[in-house]
Amino acid sequence: MNKRDYYEVLGVSKGASEDEIKRAFRKLAKKYHPDVSKEPNAEEKFKEAQEAYAVLSDKQKRAQYDQYGHAAFEGVNGGAGFDFSDFDFSDIFDGIFGGGFSSFSGFGGSRRNTRNGARDGNDRLMRVNLSFDDAVFGTKKKINVDCNSECDKCDGKGGFGSHTCKTCHGKGVVTQEQRTILGAFMTQSTCPDCRGKGTAFDRTCSACHGSGTVRKNKDLEVKIPAGVDTGSRLRLAGKGDAGVNGGAPGDLYLEFVVKDHPLFIRDDYDIYLELPITITDAVLGTKKEVPTLYGNVKVSIPSGSESGDKLRIKDKGVTHVNSSTKGDMYIILKVCIPKKLDKKQKKMFEELSNTNLKTGDFKLVESYLD
Ligand SMILES: [Zn+2]
Ligand SMILES: [Zn+2]
Repeated sequence: MNKRDYYEVLGVSKGASEDEIKRAFRKLAKKYHPDVSKEPNAEEKFKEAQEAYAVLSDKQKRAQYDQYGHAAFEGVNGGAGFDFSDFDFSDIFDGIFGGGFSSFSGFGGSRRNTRNGARDGNDRLMRVNLSFDDAVFGTKKKINVDCNSECDKCDGKGGFGSHTCKTCHGKGVVTQEQRTILGAFMTQSTCPDCRGKGTAFDRTCSACHGSGTVRKNKDLEVKIPAGVDTGSRLRLAGKGDAGVNGGAPGDLYLEFVVKDHPLFIRDDYDIYLELPITITDAVLGTKKEVPTLYGNVKVSIPSGSESGDKLRIKDKGVTHVNSSTKGDMYIILKVCIPKKLDKKQKKMFEELSNTNLKTGDFKLVESYLD
């Protein structure tokens, strides 16, 4: 196998400090994170960076790597590469994704939380499309999720009947001697036969192949609170992937993508509406009925209004998530000048133009005329 040098993968020098290594990994993780990256081969690149970081961020492993190169870890975990299951990436991801995420679906592997091979399930992130109204007023929505769930056939155990694992003699870990030109050293890894449990099944469950979990498609009825917006996340505790060997289930996070409204523009909790008015309404002022999120409201347009003037209607914006506070609504006036006039209108404008309509704004320009 042609494996790239770990320092090359992270783009750091051999003498890089712990901080430099961490920073380099953060940068790559942001770029290639499978849930956000649009780069081709993002997942592969991400895993490569993850592996390099797991080794170079660990003093002992880094020293082994510096001495023996990739040979230092060959044969570990049955030759399948590096075992990440004990590696906790959460502090890194909290920094990148604003906290609250311990792991995403399909990366890093879940964390082992006890010695008997129990693993907490992965957290999952799902994007959910919402209409403008559903986001503003809240709704109940059926969400279809694909998650690892407990296997029904074996009740999540992974098999039937049990005996002490012969490979690790119940210890859950195996120790391997690694011989290199510079001598031998020992590596310890999770027992591949019992996956750390220390016991093996008389008969492995055929439905889940011993993992205790199966991919299941399920419908969840979710109550979405009023006020969510694009990018808001809702955490459904325990609705992520099932844990293994008694580990706790992960959480499911819903991230919303809200459709635009044909008329209203939302900015956080405020609502904007561009209101066309005639030239006479702008000059003379008027009262006008306007639509809001909560039915029609009459607003006074003051005489002498101009395009771009802003009128505020208090508390007609969007309700804050988890509170009763509301944002405001803003009417932005747009004075529309008619492009065609009938005879009578034209005559009236001509008459008007013979009167003095000039305001103080005209003085400065006129003062520069020859
Ligand atoms: Zn074993
Ligand atoms: Zn099963």
